[in-house]
Amino acid sequence: MRVSARRAGSWWGRGGRGVAAGLGRLCALPVRAGASVLGLWLALGLGAAAAAPPASGPTAAAALPYPPAVAARFPDPAEAYPTPGLQPGREAWTDNAELAAALRTLAGAGAAELLELGRTETGAELLALRFSRAPGRPVALVVGQQHGNEPAAGEALLALAMQLANPGHPVAAVLAKIDVVLLPRANPDGTALGRRSNAAGLDVNRDHLLLQTREAAAVAALVAQWRPVLFVDVHEHLALGRHMPALGGIKRHDLLIQFATTPNLPPALAALAEQGFRQPLLQALDAAGISHEWYFTNPREPEGRLLTMGGMQPGLARNAGGLKQMVSVLLESRGFDLGRLHAPRRVHSHVVALHSLLGSAAAQANSLPRQLAEVAAEVSALACRGSLVIEAAPTRRVRELLLLDPDTGADQPVQVDWDDMLALQPLAVRSRPCGYWLAPDATEAVARLHRWGVRVQTLPAPRRLQVERYTETARGPAGPRASVSAAREAPQRVAVSLQPGTLEAPAGSFYVPLDQPLAHLVAAALEPDTAHAWFTHRLLPRLDAVQRVMAPP
Ligand SMILES: [Zn+2]
Repeated sequence: MRVSARRAGSWWGRGGRGVAAGLGRLCALPVRAGASVLGLWLALGLGAAAAAPPASGPTAAAALPYPPAVAARFPDPAEAYPTPGLQPGREAWTDNAELAAALRTLAGAGAAELLELGRTETGAELLALRFSRAPGRPVALVVGQQHGNEPAAGEALLALAMQLANPGHPVAAVLAKIDVVLLPRANPDGTALGRRSNAAGLDVNRDHLLLQTREAAAVAALVAQWRPVLFVDVHEHLALGRHMPALGGIKRHDLLIQFATTPNLPPALAALAEQGFRQPLLQALDAAGISHEWYFTNPREPEGRLLTMGGMQPGLARNAGGLKQMVSVLLESRGFDLGRLHAPRRVHSHVVALHSLLGSAAAQANSLPRQLAEVAAEVSALACRGSLVIEAAPTRRVRELLLLDPDTGADQPVQVDWDDMLALQPLAVRSRPCGYWLAPDATEAVARLHRWGVRVQTLPAPRRLQVERYTETARGPAGPRASVSAAREAPQRVAVSLQPGTLEAPAGSFYVPLDQPLAHLVAAALEPDTAHAWFTHRLLPRLDAVQRVMAPP
C-alpha cells in the first residue's frame, strides 16, 4: 500500500475536532512527582509554568500528521517528568537558559559537580554534570542532542539528571557502583537555531575523528579525562520524513538502537555490548511496552526500499566511541520531525533505556573495566601484525520490517532491502604497521592526537626508519557522508599505493606507536584513504607528512 499525497491531504481535510480534544486532555495530565523532585522543580522556578493554561487544542491538532488511530499507538506514559519543557501547557522544549539554570541548580544543591566544557562559537555554554560518590569508579558518559533539533534527547538527559540527584529515586542506586557524566545538550547553538548542525553548519555527530567543532572537542575532552567504560549517544530519528511513505507505512518503533559499527572494532567489544547491555536493554523496553528495532536510516530515494543500519564512518560519535574501547550505544527516539507530538513518550523511551544501560554498567562495575582492559591489551598487541581494514561494505539482505498502516495504525510488515552494518565485508585491506611517522610540521595532527590521549613520541635525534610511503593514484569527491558539512565544498578523497623504503627521520619529527589502545582510531585518522581521513580534510600538510613505520624503531 502506498501513501499518496492526495490521501495525506484528505486526512488534513477531515482532521479536526476529536484530535484537538484528545490533545487537550493529554496536556492537562497532572504531574506526578515525588516530594523531593517537586521541591527541586519549585527551586528551578517552574511553578509559574505549571500554572499556565493547557496548550490550545487547535494548535496541537494542526501539527498532527496522521490519523488518531496511528497516534493512539503512542500513548503517553504513566510517568511524568518535571523538566521545564514537559510542564503542562508548555509548547516549547527546555531552552538553553532553562537547561543551564537547571544544571546549575542540581550542582548547587550538591548532587553533582558542574563540568564547564567551554563555549560554542556563539558563546553558549557547554555544561555537563558529573555524579560521583567515590573516586575510582567506572564511568558512564551519556551525551544528548549533538543534533540541535532532536529535543527529546536533551529533555531525557535533564530528566535523568533530576532523578540521579534524588537519592530516593531507584536509578540513583547505580551511583553506589558507577559514576555518571551527563552532557544533556552537546549542540546548544543548533537547538537555539532549531537545526541539526552547529552554528557553523557542521554536523557535530560526524566530527569525532576530525574534531573541527568545539562541541565534538568537548566530548573528546570528557572521554580523555574520565575514560568511560560506557558511552551512550542520545538522538531522535525521522519518524515521517524522507521517503518512508513510499514503503507504504509509518515508522513504528519508539526506540532505534545501535552499537559501534566501523571497521577494525575488536569482536570482544561487540560481544560485551550485545550480552552485557543490549540484551538486558531489550528486556527492559519490552517490560515497559516500548517498541524497539535496530537503528536504520530512511531511504535516500523517493522510491527506495533500501534501509541502512546507520553509517560505518569512524568519525561518527558511536563509532569513535567503539574505537576508543568503550561500550558504545546509540539511542534514537521517535522522532524529531513530530514537533511536540508524543513528547512525554519520546522522553520516556530514552529514560527507560538509560535506566537499563546504567543499571547494566552498575551490575558489571567489578568486571567491565577488567574486560575492557583486556580488549585494549589485545588491540595494543596487534601492532606490526595482521591487517587493517581501510574500507568495508555492509552485507545487503532482504528482511521484514514492521511499520504501521497509515490509516488504521495496525502493524504492517513490509519487505525491505537492509544494509547490515553488523556484518561488514572488507573491501580494502592493508598490513597493520608498527606505527606512523609524522613530519615536524604535522603539528595540527599531533595536537588532535594529544586531545584523545594518544601517546606520541617526539624523536630527540635523527633516526633511520623502515617505512611505507603513500603515492596518490586517484582523487575524487569524497561524497557527502565523508564530510561533516553538507554546505561546504565536498572534500577530495584519494586512492593511494604503497612504496617500501627507508626514511631518515629528523629530530623533532614524531612517532605514533600502534601498541596502544587507541591504535585503530589513530589508523582511521592517519591512513589517507579512509572515510573522514585527516589528509582528506587537510589536517596533514602533505601526503608524505605521514608514513607507515613497518619495523619497531
Ligand atoms: Zn541525531
